Amino acid sequence: MSQRLFVLGSTGSIGDNVLDVVARNPQTAVIHGLTAHRNIGKLYRQCLKFRPALAIVSEPHHAIELQANLQAAGLNTEVQCGAQALCAAACAADCDTVVAAIVGAAGLPPTLSAARAGKKILLANKEALVMSGTLFMEAAANSGATILPLDSEHNAIFQCLHGAQRASGDVQRLILTASGGPFRNRPLQTLDQVTPDEACAHPNWSMGRKISVDSATMMNKGLELIEARWLFDIPAERIETLIHPQSIVHSMVVYRDQSVLAQLGSPDMRIPIAHALAYPQRIDSGAEPLDLVKVATLTFEAPDLARFPCLALALEVIREGGAMSTVLNAANEVAVEAFLTHRIRFTDIARVVDEVLQKIPGAAVTSFDEVMDIDQHSRRIGSAVVQRVCRMPHSSPSLYAASSAAAVSLLQGGR
Ligand code: NAD
Ligand code: MG
Repeated sequence: MSQRLFVLGSTGSIGDNVLDVVARNPQTAVIHGLTAHRNIGKLYRQCLKFRPALAIVSEPHHAIELQANLQAAGLNTEVQCGAQALCAAACAADCDTVVAAIVGAAGLPPTLSAARAGKKILLANKEALVMSGTLFMEAAANSGATILPLDSEHNAIFQCLHGAQRASGDVQRLILTASGGPFRNRPLQTLDQVTPDEACAHPNWSMGRKISVDSATMMNKGLELIEARWLFDIPAERIETLIHPQSIVHSMVVYRDQSVLAQLGSPDMRIPIAHALAYPQRIDSGAEPLDLVKVATLTFEAPDLARFPCLALALEVIREGGAMSTVLNAANEVAVEAFLTHRIRFTDIARVVDEVLQKIPGAAVTSFDEVMDIDQHSRRIGSAVVQRVCRMPHSSPSLYAASSAAAVSLLQGGR
């Protein structure tokens, strides 16, 4: 079963978990390449442990330093730098499987490169699919690439579909579960005082800061709806979202006979990672066994779009399709970064995304160059909106996107 693995974003939360599962199952994969943006100390330690042929960082001076340190430690790992190097390595013949675990739009070019080269892709970087869903899936279909989802909800759906023929009409609906994040019950009027550390303190999952904020706003679920729409080729009207605070049921598939298949497990990303790494076999993940007696209660509730305006915006965008999901993703990345660096309030994230969406007309997208242009344009507009929002007095009312009837209907999977 051994495969040569190239881990894009190995120093992140997903990267850590992938390497943990590989270390437990050395027969499953050989680490061919590891990459980091700037954390070269951690990448150095990972290289010492896994001895990859290749390591890639973003900045030339980091590459020089890392190369010297690895040579001094007696390793002949080749160190490269830059986005081009990531793309070249992701499609090279010396790797079989690419783990897409870079956060944000920066993950799209190398993941696409792997898709075009027909690689097996373990996909965590949902932003790649949100930015370019149709084009990305077309590229993968044309080359014969296999995409195995690492996102826990999508991995759960993949397991519950179990090869079912979606086109046959047997699959009626998908139900994506969401924890509701740390602010599910926090008084609405205090949300504008939320700090980045509070937003990143997720009740069930330990994740990178960007996805943690996305979980707190529930933009993460919006991005995941778009991800599911493309990954499973199912219309958004047939994807429902349910808040499930315990994060034990990772998602569900409803069949035409009203059988509902769910995948359950402790909230530990090593479970979907182990599944995708070994698929179609099974390996140990290292996760705690699920103790349902201890969990005792599983609850479900409909999300409140007034509390989670980012989810309402994503639902509007799914209806519009085309370029708007690229705009949504870029505007959200800019807004989350501005929040994490204390430039805007938590409640301004939805305000910024909404304004950017309103300023850019919807259009069909026919090429990846267009996707990248729209991404850059949206970031410029997003930065300008952030500048203006920063200067607003803090007493100004927070904008909340309308929870339109259309969005509410989509939320319920068209029911
Ligand atoms: P993280 O912030 O912990 O790690 C991100 C990784 O990407 C790091 O290795 C970092 O060095 C690298 N990186 C960041 N910017 C880069 C750039 N410009 N160029 C090259 N590399 C860059 O993030 P994470 O939580 O591991 O999430 C990674 C991806 O997986 C995201 O798309 C996220 O939505 C998705 N995801 C994460 C989880 C989770 O539990 N953490 C669950 C589901 C999906
Ligand atoms: Mg998820």
